Amino acid sequence: MNRPINWALIGASNVAREWIIDAIRVQPSSEISTVLSSDAERGAAYARENGIPHSTTSLDEILSDNTIQAVYVSTSNELHKQQVIAAARAGKHVLCEKPLALDLSDAAEMAAECQKAGVILATNHHLRCSALHISLHEHLNSGAIGALNSVRVFHANYLSDALARWRLNDDGGGVLLDSVIHDIDTLRFLMDASPTHVFCMTQSGRRSRAPVDDGAMAVLRFPGDVLVQIHSSYTVRYAPGGIEIYGESGVMIGHDCMSQRPAGTLYLRNAEGEREIPIKHHNLYHYALQRFSAAVRGDGAPAASGNDGVASLAIALALKESALTGRQVEVQLP
Ligand code: NDP
Repeated sequence: MNRPINWALIGASNVAREWIIDAIRVQPSSEISTVLSSDAERGAAYARENGIPHSTTSLDEILSDNTIQAVYVSTSNELHKQQVIAAARAGKHVLCEKPLALDLSDAAEMAAECQKAGVILATNHHLRCSALHISLHEHLNSGAIGALNSVRVFHANYLSDALARWRLNDDGGGVLLDSVIHDIDTLRFLMDASPTHVFCMTQSGRRSRAPVDDGAMAVLRFPGDVLVQIHSSYTVRYAPGGIEIYGESGVMIGHDCMSQRPAGTLYLRNAEGEREIPIKHHNLYHYALQRFSAAVRGDGAPAASGNDGVASLAIALALKESALTGRQVEVQLP
């Protein structure tokens, strides 16, 4: 019998509407009782449209409600810190959107406060929840292509107008903290390591209000002298996303796998030719919520922890610094 988990949504967001509300509700004994919005009318409409019984503009009301065990924070990025720390101090488990914060010391403080309060902090890095990436990780670990040489990540797309608001116009947006940060987390997951040095150049002004970045190319050096290249963009139409991992005895290729959807094809190329590795796809967000819910019930750990969110932010900020200064930056993980 699963212990019930009653959720509050902090933020009447698009990502909750599209993915997370459903992902919470498919978990056993899990329900959403309220949503926080800064605007009473929008909050009430959001609750009505999504079948949530209650909405509020008061975070305190949510945090003092002893029937709520977990919160999902998906407000705009500058609000995450204050809301996560308040939730932790009230004893709520937290699934927080990426980037955890805009500043590294803020993110580290969030992780520390959650640890101190004895609550779970997870970061919603969905790509590591993809069945294709999980299979790719297993293949790399079992030596399918031998020692790694280099990696290329392709994550260019055209941001829809519906999502363009703060992403392209605010200091809290930009492709590095919004999209490249997911690539970084995926690489950390696949390679079980973090880069030591990074170099990055960005574009802006094609769709963004300059200097907010709307395109980036980055090179990262991982331990073992493994070079990684990332291309991520909000201004490129029709490009397939993917990842190519080059090893001493073969190459693994993920096609169309940098997606929120359960999609993509995985190939192994080596001396015997090319073969497709069958993938049994699952909903990435269902998987993330399943891991989070199990962790809340004392079983295992979330797919991406708070510390994973701190690390991905540290590396994304190092890329930002490199783009601003034109220099290679040594990554400092807290
Ligand atoms: P939204 O813009 O949809 O929501 C962010 C905030 O904006 C909401 O909390 C809401 O404030 C406010 N808002 C929403 N709609 C409107 C509107 N029509 N007019 C005015 N204000 C509005 O953001 P996203 O859902 O795209 O992103 C939210 C968070 O989730 C971000 O941190 C983002 O980085 C992350 N994200 C993660 C994804 C993932 O797959 N892991 C995917 C997409 C986003 P209020 O709550 O006060 O009503």
